[in-house]
Amino acid sequence: MSRPFSVILLPTLRCNVACDYCFEVKSGLSLTLEQLPQLTERLLDHMEERGSTQAQIYWQGGEVMTIGPDWFEKANLQMGDAARARGLVLNHFLQTNLIGWSARWHNVVRTMFGSALGTSMDYPNVHRRLKNGSTEKYTELWLAAVRDAKAAGIEVGVIAVLHPTTLETPPADFYNFYVRDAGITDFQVNMPFPGGPSQGGDTLDSGPLAHFLVGLMNVWLARTGDEDVRLGPFYELLNTFAGRPSTLPCIWQKNCADEFVSIDARGSAALCDCWVTSYPEHSFGNAFASQSLGEMLGGSEARARFLARPEKLMRDEECGTCEWLSMCHGGCPVRTFADKGTIFTKDPYCEAYKALFSHARAAASRMRMRKLAAAAR
Ligand code: SF4
Ligand code: SF4
Ligand code: SF4
Repeated sequence: MSRPFSVILLPTLRCNVACDYCFEVKSGLSLTLEQLPQLTERLLDHMEERGSTQAQIYWQGGEVMTIGPDWFEKANLQMGDAARARGLVLNHFLQTNLIGWSARWHNVVRTMFGSALGTSMDYPNVHRRLKNGSTEKYTELWLAAVRDAKAAGIEVGVIAVLHPTTLETPPADFYNFYVRDAGITDFQVNMPFPGGPSQGGDTLDSGPLAHFLVGLMNVWLARTGDEDVRLGPFYELLNTFAGRPSTLPCIWQKNCADEFVSIDARGSAALCDCWVTSYPEHSFGNAFASQSLGEMLGGSEARARFLARPEKLMRDEECGTCEWLSMCHGGCPVRTFADKGTIFTKDPYCEAYKALFSHARAAASRMRMRKLAAAAR
């Protein structure tokens, strides 16, 4: 079996907006088309070493669209030719704030990204702001871009970062903003962390967070059937408890350090986009300075520490006796590090996760009972 390989590329550290809680340390640096062949060769070599015939390339930033559609058209051709010559396949995914969206992107998204893109928006939007400080105009531009992309036949998935104002909002209002106002049918909620130079991404209290998450899951469950909406991580949890195939988000992966690597415009590599620019002391090395990504990753002490985390948590934390260990694995290292200053404790959202797991398991069980009762009638 081919082993999956995922890489998060940050081809630019520039951004066209100024969100309060941004964890990136931004700069004017961008990857050039002259540097791209070298980086592509490194990735393809690494795929061959791992025995991976396919790789998922997640393009993020900074803001990727500041590089322009022409750059991506050329990059797609360059990378596609190089991969095909070795019988390998690169699957590209796009994560953008959509603030620089225009019709010039339609063709790039169709040809390179399979007519789909990912974006981010919070509700209420109190942290995502334009450089002039306006959150209202940001939301307006974002909604217009979503509508244009959808009208062009592009699927739009959304990440919503929760913050204290969200937790004071009725879950139904939150849900309606995405589904009814923006017309989104695929979105997920993410927990914040106070990474890098950010403000406003502070770790939330687990009690109010759990209350909001359970309320939101109930809204989603009550509307499932009327509206075909995929709301993560509830959708994935329900599938898992129902015994259906499902991929849980990275925060609950067995060991995310085994799954991901992120590389920025300078070639700096780290576990994921949350680490590369925010915590350079956890760098895995430099992709341009190393002859082989495999050697760089294999020789990295920083990566070895991440790989050792789950075992250490099982030994030293309550994770070892937790009934949810096989789903949670101690949670997300960056959320832990940003809150506690070490990766070797359990995720600060532990109690909220437990509430969510219990609620999802009970919901899956009720659905199963209803199905059995319906079949018996
Ligand atoms: S969170 Fe994303 S969109 Fe906002 S300033 Fe940071 S890089 Fe830009
Ligand atoms: S550190 Fe956290 S956000 Fe990054 S890949 Fe791991 S689980 Fe995901
Ligand atoms: S739910 Fe909490 S105790 Fe259980 S595995 Fe996750 S972090 Fe550890």
